Amino acid sequence: MLEQHEPDLYQAVLDLEQTTPNQVSQQAQAFKSWLKDLLSTSVMPCDYCQSPLTVRIGHRLNFRCRSCRRTFNPLKKYQLNHLSHCELWLPFVDLLLQGETLKTANQQLGISPNTAAKWQSCFLWIMEKQGFSILANYCRVKRRQRYRVGNHNFV
Ligand SMILES: [Zn+2]
Repeated sequence: MLEQHEPDLYQAVLDLEQTTPNQVSQQAQAFKSWLKDLLSTSVMPCDYCQSPLTVRIGHRLNFRCRSCRRTFNPLKKYQLNHLSHCELWLPFVDLLLQGETLKTANQQLGISPNTAAKWQSCFLWIMEKQGFSILANYCRVKRRQRYRVGNHNFV
C-alpha cells in the first residue's frame, strides 16, 4: 500500500529500519553541538581570505576581518542568516527530532506555522549538507508517522 502510493516515504522507512537507534542519537548529539558551537563561536577564520584575525561584531554573528577588512556572516553558507530568533533554533530542532508537527512548534515556541515550515526545510537541508542524512531521514519519517496516526497503519 505505502509502497505503491508513496514510494519516497516507503524507501525512507526502509532506510530507517536499517539504521540503529544509536546512529540516530549520535547524529542528533553531533548535530546539536555543531549548531550550538556555530551560534556561540567567537572565533571564525575569514570567509574571504581565511585569516584568523577576525572579530565578532554584534549578536547576529557578524564578523569583521582585520586582514582584508571585509565583514562576513558564517550563517550565510547555511542560509541561516535569513532566519530570525536564533535562540529558538535548538528547541525547534528538538521538536523536529520528536516528530512534532508545525502546529506544536507554533504553540510551544510562538513561531507562525509558515515560519516553522521554513525552519523545518532549512534544518533538514543543513542536516543533509553537513552529512547527517540518517538524522534528516529520521526526522522526516517521524513527522510523517505523527501526521498519519489514526489514518493508516504505518508500514
Ligand atoms: Zn579576510
